[in-house]
Amino acid sequence: MPEPYRLNAENVLKNHETSPQQGLSASEVTRRLSQYGPNELIEKGKKKAWQILLAQVREVMILILLAAVVISVALQEYIDAIVIFVIVVLNTILGFWQEFKAENAMAALKKMTVPHVRVRRDGAEQQISARDLVPGDILLIEAGNIVPADGRLIAAANLKVQEAALTGESESVDKDTDELPDGELALADRKNMIYRGTVVTYGRGESVVTGTGMQTELGKIAIMLQDVEDEQTPLQRRLAKLGRSLALAAGVLVIIVAGLNYLQGAGLKEMFMTAISMAVAAIPEGLPAVVTIALALGAQQMLKKNALIRQLPAVETLGGVTVICSDKTGTLTQNKMTVSDVVLPDRRYSLDEAVADHGKDADLGLLLLAGTLCNDAVIDEHTPDGILGDPTEGALVLAAQQAGLVQRDLQAMLPRVGELPFDSERKRMSTVHALPSSSRGTDLHPVLAAAGDQGSADHLVLTKGAIDGLIEVCGRILINGVVQPLSDKRKEEIAAENTALAKNGMRVLGFAYRLMGVDGLDRPEHYEQDLVFLGMCCMLDPVRPEAIESVRLCKQAGIRPVMITGDHPLTAVAIAKGLGLTTSDAVLTGQDLDRMTVDALSARIKEVSVFARVSPKHKMIIIDALQAQHEIVSMTGDGVNDAPALKSADIGVAMGITGTDVSKESSDMVLLDDNFATIVAAVEEGRRIYDNIRKFLRYILTGNAGEIVVMLAGPLLGMPLPLLPIQILWINLVTDGVPAVALGFEEAERDVMHRPPYNPREGIFARGLGWQILVMGLIIGLISVGTGYWFWSGGTGSNAWQTMVFTMLTFCQMAYALCVRKQTQSLFAQSWLGNPVLLLAIGVTLALQLIIIYVPFFNTVFRTTPLRPAELGICAVGALVVVLITESKKLFLRRRQH
Ligand code: ATP
Repeated sequence: MPEPYRLNAENVLKNHETSPQQGLSASEVTRRLSQYGPNELIEKGKKKAWQILLAQVREVMILILLAAVVISVALQEYIDAIVIFVIVVLNTILGFWQEFKAENAMAALKKMTVPHVRVRRDGAEQQISARDLVPGDILLIEAGNIVPADGRLIAAANLKVQEAALTGESESVDKDTDELPDGELALADRKNMIYRGTVVTYGRGESVVTGTGMQTELGKIAIMLQDVEDEQTPLQRRLAKLGRSLALAAGVLVIIVAGLNYLQGAGLKEMFMTAISMAVAAIPEGLPAVVTIALALGAQQMLKKNALIRQLPAVETLGGVTVICSDKTGTLTQNKMTVSDVVLPDRRYSLDEAVADHGKDADLGLLLLAGTLCNDAVIDEHTPDGILGDPTEGALVLAAQQAGLVQRDLQAMLPRVGELPFDSERKRMSTVHALPSSSRGTDLHPVLAAAGDQGSADHLVLTKGAIDGLIEVCGRILINGVVQPLSDKRKEEIAAENTALAKNGMRVLGFAYRLMGVDGLDRPEHYEQDLVFLGMCCMLDPVRPEAIESVRLCKQAGIRPVMITGDHPLTAVAIAKGLGLTTSDAVLTGQDLDRMTVDALSARIKEVSVFARVSPKHKMIIIDALQAQHEIVSMTGDGVNDAPALKSADIGVAMGITGTDVSKESSDMVLLDDNFATIVAAVEEGRRIYDNIRKFLRYILTGNAGEIVVMLAGPLLGMPLPLLPIQILWINLVTDGVPAVALGFEEAERDVMHRPPYNPREGIFARGLGWQILVMGLIIGLISVGTGYWFWSGGTGSNAWQTMVFTMLTFCQMAYALCVRKQTQSLFAQSWLGNPVLLLAIGVTLALQLIIIYVPFFNTVFRTTPLRPAELGICAVGALVVVLITESKKLFLRRRQH
């Protein structure tokens, strides 16, 4: 069978046994789905289990430990060799499991972004998951869609598609349904086809699906559209760097300690053991895995709050956001538009009056007709709002319907034959309708009836859009059934009326029409000229109640909310005031932005929080200006042209419900409920996660510092090796590792949203963290080694000095884990059940420590000696000292805060 682009549309339909009006039946879809399989590409790039495992085994630390195993065997230290090996295996399994879980969590999140598509099946339009498309489906596409499957076009209106994914060409190409000259054609020249993975940038179209899944052109070249990026987050990169520095430091320490040992006359074996112990003590083995899992778990938590994370680094960046730029319509407001008033040139109706009176007022009838015909929304009882499509348009269809003007009937009477789609630059849209000869002269409106007399004027252009732009293309006005020239005075009056309405926070749409012959049909760019102004509709879109609270929360948290809208400046300011977002009338429009110099904008952007009549390109200007002020910017977007802004913002946020596929693809985060409050909730979660990462960093590194202090101080005090390599390994991997993971589950600090955002460029050890780690490490180390020295020097008559060092370190660390849960809040004031995972982790770790001390088998393995109850008591006192010191510091901090 020849390729579909070489056939005419009828033949393609016939070959696929489908029809444009009916589409496939449900049973046929089921059959084809089992024949062709789901419309999915076989995912490449996802890390396989063995790859994760291999990455684990390649870690420097693991390699060092494996070397230690080999050397231990050579030295005939078989027990050590086995223990180190077991610990390596356990650590690898733990690391693998964490990575695997994190990987799967992210893969599951990615799956959730599979787009929905519009098809016609069983004679009706339906929304289905792109996965469920089958060959023969009638697919409806419009600007903003990513084409979900290959197809032969059967209808196209100003359709433009950007095919860079397949052809590398970034200019959009025009598409139509025409048959092409016979012969092989390159992909780029197949103008009657659309291909999976390309982007609809303009217009609308319908196609018969000819290929799905791996049978698409994209599938054939097997490129994954959403290739899985394996990029490290900034934090992970910083930690990797830290790991390398620590490894270097470990090298130096090893030499120092080994040297000290040598001076004490230690043998080769002991020196070697010391070297390994030091290396193990200095390197925080679990750190990278712990961070990855914390971020991935964070992404899962965010999902529970309706924020779908697409890029792992976003979890981290969210915590540092300083400005949240948000679209108004639908994000700050409910996007539940209702027509409240209809304003004609010299009279005004409330919606109820309009519904009652439209029969008596032909001008009003014509305006309502324009509203429902120049419109892409349709009534659909299956959707929650009763309409399918843009709510602004839906409101117009519903208003007309209430007045008895049924969209379907009118569409049948006045079929659409041309259109110039809405775009956010022009802020207008137009449709052209054929006036059937029989209806010219019927009761629609006298001016339409008169069209019959004009002979060639057998088409009706209907335009709707923002008043400011619409007035520019109007030359006439309809007043009381009579078309008159539109004087400048009239224009001013309309503009004034528009301003007055906008001040009340209303969205105002203007309507116009003109009659046209068949000649102009193929030149959409000429549709919008010399129009006859009809009047305007005012719509109300209530603010989201939860947005008011979220705006307050933002301000309290030192984050600036900024409103960006295509609406009228006064509408925008009125709504911004209602939200508490601003108290001033300051507003910048897209035109202002175009005129301003970079410096002027930098100065103004600090105080202006409302931007109106902006088009997507202005979002880039706003982001640039904010980023130049070192702000961390989150930006929302939904349209096809928002993609660049979403990419260049620090956090690009797409709308899950109303957003186009393209915007979702370009975003870092998708709001499943399109709600501003969700962004703020995600920021709060991001702050919690960042705090927690710092908490377990503090915990792990303090432990390591403590061990190093012990290992350095021991020889200086003349003691033999205070901790054996396996004991250090145990402390690092179990005592430190397990509670550290649990710290990731810690609840947010009470003041997370009461403090300004942290400077995102701050180092991970900023705000004194580095010093605190060193000081607490020193304290814990000294307590442990001091106790060890007391026992070793014979002061207590016990031979358990090494076990005392080992156990003291463990107990102190457990106490410290409890204290680092909160930065300033007292240990005794925080809820004990706030983090049950941590309590469990501590309980398990302590129990394991007791097993190591008291079970004879482990005495041999870990070279421990059972401690007497009093000795255990001494360790508990050491732990208490740690608590007292940290809690005193917190008390001091709290005092200072007040
Ligand atoms: P926000 O940016 O707050 O989300 P928005 O996305 O609704 O607002 P646009 O869609 O760019 O903003 O709309 C800008 C202006 O274009 C509106 O104020 C309105 O006057 C006009 N407009 C919006 N939708 C349509 C439409 N479907 N047809 C004609 N004009 C429209």
